[in-house]
Amino acid sequence: MRFAGKVAVVTGAASGIGKEIATAFVREGARVVIADLNQQGADAVAHELGGSAHAIGVAMDVTNEAQVEVGMSRAIGHYGRLDVLVSNAGIQTVAPLEDFDFAKWKTLLAIHLDGAFLTTRAALRQMYKQKSGSVVYMGSVHSKEASVLKAPYVTAKHGLIGLAKVVAKEGAAHGVRANVVCPGFVRTPLVDKQIPEQAKELGITEEEVIKKVMLRETVDGEFTTVADVAAAVLFFAGFESNALTGQSLVVSHGWFMQ
Ligand code: NAD
Repeated sequence: MRFAGKVAVVTGAASGIGKEIATAFVREGARVVIADLNQQGADAVAHELGGSAHAIGVAMDVTNEAQVEVGMSRAIGHYGRLDVLVSNAGIQTVAPLEDFDFAKWKTLLAIHLDGAFLTTRAALRQMYKQKSGSVVYMGSVHSKEASVLKAPYVTAKHGLIGLAKVVAKEGAAHGVRANVVCPGFVRTPLVDKQIPEQAKELGITEEEVIKKVMLRETVDGEFTTVADVAAAVLFFAGFESNALTGQSLVVSHGWFMQ
């Protein structure tokens, strides 16, 4: 039980990767706050994880300053401390740059970047009081590499690496570390939605999107799994010294090699 007595907030944990991260933390003894836009989904995951002794759902739009402040206070108030923030909530929107809708560009940047900033700011206030904590950002191979049709996503995911480095530098004096996990394609609702969209934009079949676009550069043609990503997040979250701070780890079946 690597995280016995610890408390983690995971944003976007009503679904996909975040849900698996929350599950892994509970398995390792942590109590977890499932923070999500989707209150019903967050409550359902908390219930699956054993109810409020292990997990609670908190409704939060990570782009809304007031909702983040209230949600993070509720989370910290409920379990009395905060050891880990996983800033994971995210969306994907694909379109070529020349047609990209400005409102959609701003929405995507707000969820990934404003969301990371607002939840980090609230988490740091508590972590600094405790003189310890770990922040893990959900990056992507697109934190390091670009793909067509994903301008705001690639921009936002690169930005998270910058934010993590600042948190690492400012947080060190207060015992707080920050790192980024950068997955390749993982079969979640976010990716399932993209497959037909990309097929349409690129004029190819859905099968070709998977084989020729998503997995072409991997060493084995395999999707990364939610369990792979959760393992990397817990590794960063539980690391015991400042030797690992301001870093990013790519988990992508060799799609991107540093
Ligand atoms: P998902 O769609 O399964 O889950 C995303 C969750 O975020 C949902 O529960 C949704 O309700 C929540 N959310 C969306 N907007 C929100 C907001 N404004 N406030 C609070 N919650 C909000 O997606 P996923 O694939 O699990 O993605 C999770 C993270 O992993 C994202 O940051 C994504 O960019 C990243 N990622 C995913 C993949 C992949 O292939 N699936 C690869 C690399 C990185």
